[in-house]
Amino acid sequence: MEKKQIAIVGGGPSGLMAAEVLAERGHAVTVYDSMPTVARKFLLAGKSGLNITHSEDYATFAERFGSASPRLRAALDAFTPNDVRQWAARLGTETFVGSSGRVFPTTMKASPLLRAWLKSLQSRGVEVLTRHRWIGFDGDKLVFETPDGAKRVRADATLLALGGASYPRLGSDAVWPAWLQAKGVRLADFRPANCGFDVTWSEAFRDRFAGAALKGVTATSEAGTVPGEFVVSKNGIEGSLVYAHAAVLRDRLLKGEAAKLLVDLAPGRSVARLEKDLGRFDSKTSFSNRLRKGAGIEGVKAALLRELAAEAGRMSPPDLAALIKTLPIPLVRPRPSAEAISSAGGLMWDAIDDGYMLKALPGTFVAGEMIDWEAPTGGYLLTACFATGRAAAHGIEHWLSR
Ligand SMILES: Cc1cc2nc3c(=O)[nH]c(=O)nc-3n(C[C@H](O)[C@H](O)[C@H](O)COP(=O)(O)OP(=O)(O)OC[C@H]3O[C@@H](n4cnc5c(N)ncnc54)[C@H](O)[C@@H]3O)c2cc1C
Repeated sequence: MEKKQIAIVGGGPSGLMAAEVLAERGHAVTVYDSMPTVARKFLLAGKSGLNITHSEDYATFAERFGSASPRLRAALDAFTPNDVRQWAARLGTETFVGSSGRVFPTTMKASPLLRAWLKSLQSRGVEVLTRHRWIGFDGDKLVFETPDGAKRVRADATLLALGGASYPRLGSDAVWPAWLQAKGVRLADFRPANCGFDVTWSEAFRDRFAGAALKGVTATSEAGTVPGEFVVSKNGIEGSLVYAHAAVLRDRLLKGEAAKLLVDLAPGRSVARLEKDLGRFDSKTSFSNRLRKGAGIEGVKAALLRELAAEAGRMSPPDLAALIKTLPIPLVRPRPSAEAISSAGGLMWDAIDDGYMLKALPGTFVAGEMIDWEAPTGGYLLTACFATGRAAAHGIEHWLSR
């Protein structure tokens, strides 16, 4: 096919992946990004190990995207978790499967992978123009704000890969919806995903325990029962175990319903055993000692129990055992999108065709977190960003050859 000019707006994982595919096909690809450097969120993800994909059975993996799973399926089938690992290996980053089934680079970092990726894109002729903020359309041209003033760009095809609404300081500030809505594109409001929640803590508990982790617990909501750990924050609770339940709890709260996370502080012991062990003590034994010796609960776990149930110290062994197994944490509201690991909402699927082109804007394609899907943490987010970036690139190819 004749060499075409492709504009990719947004240099995160989805935009860069599309750039890779289109440059391999010989097109002239320019990646525009508003920030001074690209892929800042990808780099930050590397600070916590870069969970790049997940090793679970693929059929289960492909269902992790809730109601968006059917629409994402073709893109995921074409770039599976195994493909992600092979792609990283081609760029010199070997990966391993952690005990949870999550897949990480052996270096546990994003920077070596990103460096190799950008080098490979450069060798294929991809031009990266940073400090280029897309600010809308002027007829069939894209308008960018640059340090040298406004720039107008006409491309044969455009990919928007602007990210969602989380961590706006890393570039994905979600100021673009109005420009697309003005063109008739339908969007769902952004909502925090994989987020923490506000809880009304007493001042004493907050001052003493903000930052403390509750390890080796399980948490239950309509999302199921999940083992793991979470952290008491200044405002409430956060961490991977909370994120696993975040979507259902958020949806309840946003509908104005009450939401509670039920925590089992002693998952290794049955209610019957706890009842027996807690019943061994006489009334002279302090509550702290009963909890520690009878249930193995101390520190922040004991403090949380007291914080949420002031009467716990006066409870009978059966009632206390039941409370330890299902301690309800009442949630006030989700923390804002700006603090969340990812966001739900964005471009609605009915605004996008199977080739990831906006139906209202022929020639303009979309990929990544700016589309209305969400998934738990576990490498699902990056895999879907890579996969939709590739799918949109194939959509562009197909459209250009029409
Ligand atoms: C702290 C943290 C840890 C994470 N860890 C993981 C993890 O371990 N595993 C995982 O799977 N996922 C993780 N994620 C999520 C994952 O990083 C994102 O889902 C992914 O980066 C989204 O990719 P994207 O390409 O769609 O958007 P982004 O990565 O957000 O990139 C969008 C790009 O578009 C640019 N842009 C936005 N607006 C404009 C504009 N108007 N003009 C020009 N450029 C613009 C931005 O500057 C940015 O570079 C993590 C997220 C966070 C915040």
